[in-house]
Amino acid sequence: MGKSRRYYSKRQKRQKIMQQAALERIDYFFNQANIIISNNPTLAHRYIEHARRLAMATKINIPPKYRHQICHHCKHWLKAGVNARYRLGQMKNYASYLAVTCLDCGHTTRYPYKGPACQHLKWISSLQPKNPEKKQNRN
Ligand SMILES: [Zn+2]
Repeated sequence: MGKSRRYYSKRQKRQKIMQQAALERIDYFFNQANIIISNNPTLAHRYIEHARRLAMATKINIPPKYRHQICHHCKHWLKAGVNARYRLGQMKNYASYLAVTCLDCGHTTRYPYKGPACQHLKWISSLQPKNPEKKQNRN
C-alpha cells in the first residue's frame, strides 16, 4: 500500500473504531487476569471468556503474544507456576517447540518457535544458553 491512501466507508470507519476500543479492553482483561489468577482463578477465567467474546463480536484476532497463554481445550488463562507447565522440546528431524500443559484439564499444546511463521515466540531462542561451559566456571 505504501503512500497511497485507503478510503473506508462509514461502516468500515465505525468498525475500525470499535475494534480499537475492543483491543484496549482485551489488553486490560488479559493483564488483569494475569495479576489475579493466583488469588481468584474463577474471576480470571471469566475475564478471558469476556475478552474472547469481545474479540469474536468485533472480528479481531487475539494478539499473538497472548495466544499461547490460553488453553486450547478449556480456554483458561495459563500462568507458569500457577496452572501451567512450560517445556521446550525437539521433535526428531522436525521443529523445536514450546509445550504448554494446562494443569486444569491436562491438555498440552505445542507451538513451534523457530522459522518465519512464529515471530512472536522468537524470544525463546534468545533464552537458550549459547556457551554453557562458562556457566559452570562461575560456581
Ligand atoms: Zn485446559
